[in-house]
Amino acid sequence: MSDSKVYFTNLRAKPSLNLLKKLELLVKKAGIDTIDFDHKIVAIKIHFGEPGNMAYLRPNYAAQIVKVLKSKGAIPFLTDCNTLYYGSRSNAPNHLEAAFENGYNPMVTGCPVIIADGIKGTDFREIELNTENCASAKIGTAVVESDILISMNHFKGHEMTGFGGALKNIGMGCASVGGKLFLHSSSSPKIYEENCTACKVCEKNCNYGAIKVGKDKIAHINYEICTGCGQCIAVCQYDSARVVWENASELVNKRIAEYVSAVLRNKPSFHINFIMDVSPDCDCYGFNDYPLVPNIGMAASFDPVALDQACADMVVTAPALAGSKICDNHDHGDLSGKDKFSLTHPDTTWQSGLEHAEKIGLGSRKYELIEI
Ligand code: SF4
Ligand code: SF4
Repeated sequence: MSDSKVYFTNLRAKPSLNLLKKLELLVKKAGIDTIDFDHKIVAIKIHFGEPGNMAYLRPNYAAQIVKVLKSKGAIPFLTDCNTLYYGSRSNAPNHLEAAFENGYNPMVTGCPVIIADGIKGTDFREIELNTENCASAKIGTAVVESDILISMNHFKGHEMTGFGGALKNIGMGCASVGGKLFLHSSSSPKIYEENCTACKVCEKNCNYGAIKVGKDKIAHINYEICTGCGQCIAVCQYDSARVVWENASELVNKRIAEYVSAVLRNKPSFHINFIMDVSPDCDCYGFNDYPLVPNIGMAASFDPVALDQACADMVVTAPALAGSKICDNHDHGDLSGKDKFSLTHPDTTWQSGLEHAEKIGLGSRKYELIEI
């Protein structure tokens, strides 16, 4: 596959050219105008951020993209699917409240928010795949029914996939709750017995009856029926129920790539990564740790694989921020040129997702970086 074009702009700004103007220039240089938006329903896939997290994308960026799309006759809406875990975004009413709390409301962004997989995450379309790791993909109906998909992606670290960028936001993010369950199901949790207080919170919250506190006052998981949904990890306040990532990352990354192919099938799409506030973990947590690297810039492309590869390369090249999590864990001196994601989350393999995405024809890992 030939090199894909990835357009990039740094974060230098001046009175006549603020970051919102730079974003507009970036997407136009990258060719967003070549898509026929007239009277088309456009899903803008974004992560609204878990309340308490401050690293999620500011709604002002979305508002700028909405303006660009509307000027082309589009009918845009902002969207995400419900989460697998308990939290502020696991059903549509709570999810909408979380989005509004974080500034994603029509007064700011100029368009509505629609939770793509409905009230409880059960409104999805099953798209046949029959690929190496997925028979089908369960994708939120609102995404499937839209004419065009634009992804706006906060590029940062991720505890399961290594980093979260375009592929993660599209593949995992457009999956309905059932789809997410499948994507996660290779990673069953483990109980760290020394931390367990026998509080039974996990037992009460497991929808599958797979975890029970025994007479020994320790929680035990029945792996025969555990689905790997992660609910017990989300609710355990004692860091006793934990994910075991070993060998899971590669499979999850591959499945995500296959889900992306389902989301983008027969649909024009365009992708924007924001390499800012590169926190170690995803925006699903109600906090964000100090970034791993300095803010880098914004990048856009029609090719989500090239885009993620280019952004990963930029983070690898960048120096680590002193005092960040990566420096807590590693005494490597200058970390410029080192793989920050693998050092932060040693059991993850982000490369596997990009390799697989390229193999299944989603895009190219080879890219031409065009700085504007
Ligand atoms: S929630 Fe955590 S601490 Fe409480 S019983 Fe379950 S594993 Fe143990
Ligand atoms: S991961 Fe397994 S044990 Fe934990 S809540 Fe889900 S099904 Fe239950």
